Amino acid sequence: MKPMGPIPPEFAAQTGALTIAGRSAETWMEGREGPVFVYDPAIVASRVARFRAAFPSIDLHYAIKANPFVPLLAAMAAMVDGFDVASAGELAKVAPLGKPVSFAGPGKRDAELTAAIRAGVTVNLESEGEARRALSISEGLGVRPRLAVRVNPDVELRGSGMKMGGRPSPFGIDAERVPPLVRELIVAGADWRGFHIYAGSQALDPQAIIDTQGATIALAARLADAAGATPPLVNLGGGFGVPYFAGDKPLPVETVGAALERALATRPAILGDSRFAIELGRWLVAESGVYLARVIDRKDSGGETFLILDGGLHHQLAASGNFGTVVRRNYPLAVAHAMGAEPVETVSVVGPLCTPLDRLGDRVALPVAQVGDIVAVFLAGAYGATASPSAFLGHPPAAETLGAPA
Ligand SMILES: *Cc1c(COP(=O)(O)O)cnc(C)c1O
Repeated sequence: MKPMGPIPPEFAAQTGALTIAGRSAETWMEGREGPVFVYDPAIVASRVARFRAAFPSIDLHYAIKANPFVPLLAAMAAMVDGFDVASAGELAKVAPLGKPVSFAGPGKRDAELTAAIRAGVTVNLESEGEARRALSISEGLGVRPRLAVRVNPDVELRGSGMKMGGRPSPFGIDAERVPPLVRELIVAGADWRGFHIYAGSQALDPQAIIDTQGATIALAARLADAAGATPPLVNLGGGFGVPYFAGDKPLPVETVGAALERALATRPAILGDSRFAIELGRWLVAESGVYLARVIDRKDSGGETFLILDGGLHHQLAASGNFGTVVRRNYPLAVAHAMGAEPVETVSVVGPLCTPLDRLGDRVALPVAQVGDIVAVFLAGAYGATASPSAFLGHPPAAETLGAPA
């Protein structure tokens, strides 16, 4: 038997039939041909409320690549201060929602820069070449562009699942080259919006985040001093993680918030008039989502029992351990009609794909599930449906649905 990660608090205390956003898993699956992702907006709202209480003076942006399901974005428009996008496709999803938008990501095509500049979006510049293209496109359009500079920081987020700073990188501009570029943007007449500094993802150690945020503020001040200009906004990145695996502890965001508010209270003078933002994806939405799939077959082989589902890594790649993890470990799973029941057997939960990678639970202890029963995979609200290879092997995509607001 191998352990599973912790079921998120909103579901962990349930007994009997699993309910998500007030309806049972069976009800959510009714009339469907296959698996579904269900997202509970009340859980997102509770994470937002927790962030607001912990970070009273910081703007909250949602990085939509974590979950770009349009009804969820519409619900979140009322909760966050802005959206961060990373393609023209993502921009098209948030543009109708009327919130401030910033656009990061390497390799923005001219058509993408044009769409963003036309829409008044803040473009987080990833290179000097991109800066020059943005300026020349703006001139052609006769528009004053909103441009921020993404910095490849000389700090990294310790213990983060995916490090994105402190080394040669396709993301951002090396710190020492940033001040001359800022001066060039200002001289060219652009509306310089400030800095974007993103150091990593999926961090659960509060002290690592506190140290990174402190170093990020110091870096922003150093760059602003060298450029001789106060950034209107410093986007401090994010990287708040959620507990996926056995032994993971939830991030005490209150500790991080208190430290950041203290650091900002004594910030360098050049940042005196700056606003600060944190951009989060996973932490806001991961725990709100549950992936539901049905048992198609039960079989024994070599003394092991396999539950074969009608869904797998083509819908929820991350739970198979093939999205950004080095060692495969089990996400939390449950048999949907038997929440809180004692586990009675050890089974491997696999999908229908013809590859041994398609394993959602490796020798996990569960109550008995028969053919036709529903298995729930938790933590499916971030990097699920759109971060999975849905065309691989030609099965239909999973459905997605949003629960009613609380
Ligand atoms: C992916 C990404 C995020 C969101 O990361 P999470 O780990 O989901 O919070 C935020 N900012 C940038 C620039 C990103 O690329």
